[in-house]
Amino acid sequence: MKFVSDSTMSLSRDQKLNLFSTDRKGLERLVSDLGWSNYRARQILRWIYHRRIQDLDLMTDLSKSFRKQLGEIAEARLPQIIGKEISTDGTTKWLTRVANGNSVEMVLIPDSGRYTLCVSSQIGCMLDCSFCSTGKQGFNGNLEASEIIGQVYLAEQELSKEGKSITNVVLMGMGEPLLNFDSVVLATNMMMDDLGFGLSKRRITVSTAGYVPGIYKLAETTDVSLAISLHAPNDALRDVLVPINRKYPIAELLKACRHYLKQVSDKRALTIEYTMLRGVNDKLEQAVELSEILKDLRCKINLIPFNPFPGSGYERSEEKTIRKFQDFLVGRGYATLKRTTRGEDISAACGQLIGAVDDRTNRQERYLSGLKSSELQQLNLP
Ligand code: SAH
Repeated sequence: MKFVSDSTMSLSRDQKLNLFSTDRKGLERLVSDLGWSNYRARQILRWIYHRRIQDLDLMTDLSKSFRKQLGEIAEARLPQIIGKEISTDGTTKWLTRVANGNSVEMVLIPDSGRYTLCVSSQIGCMLDCSFCSTGKQGFNGNLEASEIIGQVYLAEQELSKEGKSITNVVLMGMGEPLLNFDSVVLATNMMMDDLGFGLSKRRITVSTAGYVPGIYKLAETTDVSLAISLHAPNDALRDVLVPINRKYPIAELLKACRHYLKQVSDKRALTIEYTMLRGVNDKLEQAVELSEILKDLRCKINLIPFNPFPGSGYERSEEKTIRKFQDFLVGRGYATLKRTTRGEDISAACGQLIGAVDDRTNRQERYLSGLKSSELQQLNLP
């Protein structure tokens, strides 16, 4: 069983296994390894996720001897909320303490009856997209599954006080989800599991900057919804905006996307994210190019007005430019939405999440420790 992700922040030896860092299958395996019947795992999950009880001693339908035996090696440990900001538009951002004194941000976006939680998957990000402030903070490791599902758990706990519930989860916070694959899959499994949050696969979106091997692996592993941060209609520009493109150019990325859609084999479309940068990627001829490259891909397009941050060097496209770009794509038959900017006053909008990444020095070393060697070789980053 895999309780601890391949992160740089393995638990110290004296810490117990975290029941939040696994899914139903993993827990069933643990329980049967301890010599008990499978259904104990389901009982535990019900206590944790449905009744919101984390203390094994309070799980009264489990025998005392089982509780004692399990309690010696495992516990349900949540990350801790250490800060909260509410935007004038109702968007809420929480700062959550994770391992090694770092913290990450999650954002709840209420929108006409829907409550979308944007969760982080890594502490910072190593991909360094040129217009994203998360990347500028550097990278300090992967989140564990408990720290990813923990964000959903904590936000749901807060929201339930108002009688509301999370309806959608997007892995669009800090980090590149596909570079923290195992933990992201464990966490999304619990988001979908009836004994977890019971969200449909259509309501859980993993967003990637284009780590192509991760897309193929995801296709074999799960069927959550997928969003691609494309941002440019050709390699010359994408190489600059999204540097991972130098390793996995657009043609390869779109091939992987088509494969993913074929594997999930329902009628779902992929989401293409395109941040609108004034004078950089917002010209009409670029909309033409975009409509050409996406021709045989079942997708909808989200245009994201650029969210500025100090020293970014970019500006947001003008409203009328975005509208023209959108109208053109709609005219070509693409469902194209302009994403409303939310939570800008509290720096909770796309690409503005920075958390508190403890140690920003020596990034190269951190890349090395945060990745499996096979992934590193494939990435071939500077
Ligand atoms: N690494 C993943 C998950 C991050 S999602 C990915 O790249 O998909 C965050 C989304 O917001 C991505 O599409 C990202 O490119 C976009 N984004 C980043 N910085 C932004 C900014 N300053 N303004 C608007 N969108 C931004």
